[in-house]
Amino acid sequence: MFAVGLTGGIGSGKSTVADCFAARGVTIVDTDLIAHRITAPHGVAMAQIAAEFGPEFVAPDGSMDRARMRTLVFGDEAARKRLEAITHPLIRSETERETREASGPYVIVVVPLLVESGTWKTRVDRVLTVDCSVETQIARVMRRNGFTREQVLAIIARQATREARLAAADNVVVNDNEATLETLAHDVDALHQTYLKLAAAKASQA
Ligand code: ADP
Repeated sequence: MFAVGLTGGIGSGKSTVADCFAARGVTIVDTDLIAHRITAPHGVAMAQIAAEFGPEFVAPDGSMDRARMRTLVFGDEAARKRLEAITHPLIRSETERETREASGPYVIVVVPLLVESGTWKTRVDRVLTVDCSVETQIARVMRRNGFTREQVLAIIARQATREARLAAADNVVVNDNEATLETLAHDVDALHQTYLKLAAAKASQA
């Protein structure tokens, strides 16, 4: 199945753009949802997490105790790496399974940290970056999440730079303030035609 990795910084508009593709019949595979599901009650990561970190990191309902884990990994790089050594391979395999089983002409895999983490770029056929200015990101996330400017800046500082995301992109959707649902729909239509052709070409080689 032809797969497009969709990435962008926080508040760039990944979900908004993914919704536009979904409206055209494209299957969306969301790695954030998968990450959440594998650590939900009795998710596939939970046995390993209990073994590695101890039963105190498992909440009574069988899910990961997120608050406790957040506190642990916040200042402890080695612990964060141990957690990711469990979750990342499972996120990758679940993403591959959902992609393989998807209906529709191709798949959009939403990977917020495509540039930052691992080998995602080699696991998708194309990279699509949603781009906007840092000021626009700040304004949107302050409004959407009720965060302060400093909180948003701290998140942005942990993510790849705008330049790094653009450098990784095969295609870019510009979603700055001038973008409206109409202009996005127009841009997504053009990309959709491109991806339909590439997906058909890949299918004919299989
Ligand atoms: P991401 O998934 O990249 O974090 P979202 O798609 O959730 O970003 O967009 C962040 C916020 O900005 C949402 O509240 C969304 O409705 C809003 N938003 C996205 N694109 C635009 C736009 N072009 N104009 C106005 N608001 C937008």
